[in-house]
Amino acid sequence: MSESAPKSDGLLLVISGPSGVGKTTITHEVERCLGGTFSVSVTTRPKAAGDVEGRDYYFISEQEFARRRDAGDLLEFAQVFGKYNYGTPRRPVEEQLRKGNLVILEIDVQGALQVKEKMPDAFMIFVLPPNDQELLRRLRRRGRDNEEAIQRRYAAAKAEIETARRSGAYDHFIVNDDLDKAVKHACDLVRQRRIGAKTC
Ligand code: ADP
Ligand code: 5GP
Repeated sequence: MSESAPKSDGLLLVISGPSGVGKTTITHEVERCLGGTFSVSVTTRPKAAGDVEGRDYYFISEQEFARRRDAGDLLEFAQVFGKYNYGTPRRPVEEQLRKGNLVILEIDVQGALQVKEKMPDAFMIFVLPPNDQELLRRLRRRGRDNEEAIQRRYAAAKAEIETARRSGAYDHFIVNDDLDKAVKHACDLVRQRRIGAKTC
């Protein structure tokens, strides 16, 4: 093993799911209860109300995104909803894994599949809504997008769920109906995985 290769005792947790399903909420609760590190992505999308630079994303230009992608600085990247680019900075993820830590990526299916190919030990969870109407309600409740963007995200949800199911890459599909139960379910799955891997 080269000196810079990640040790096997860190765990890379990938959380995906349709927009509005509650991924961000669940991800931060899992981070809180298990003491992991949230991977802050880079994106070319404009900063929205409530977004904090360096906490939610690093907001960068298209040119800067292309530079980082071409330099191999991104572990994965994707254009989400056919519009803006998103990517995971590679180095912080590798550093945390090398230290044996839990690293949490909240990324879309396209990116998650790239990660799974590069890092087959990644633990993959997909979050499902209890039903379509509730997903639409949550997209609206975020109060972040206009109705056109909400409908675009809603329309993409079915395809994203279908792709995730067909890919066979996800270890678990969890339904986010009751938030506390969904968080507990996710935390229990991660704990079991780490115990199974004899890492905690
Ligand atoms: P995502 O990151 O998947 O787009 P968010 O975490 O931003 O979704 O959640 C979208 C909205 O749904 C937020 O207003 C959040 O508080 C709410 N929400 C999340 N989980 C639940 C739940 N189990 N029941 C009701 N509302 C929820
Ligand atoms: P939002 O614009 O609502 O913050 O995020 C839109 C979508 O982009 C979500 O599905 C989210 O999971 C995904 N996303 C966020 N960061 C990344 C990333 O670094 N890579 C990929 N592939 N998707 C991301």
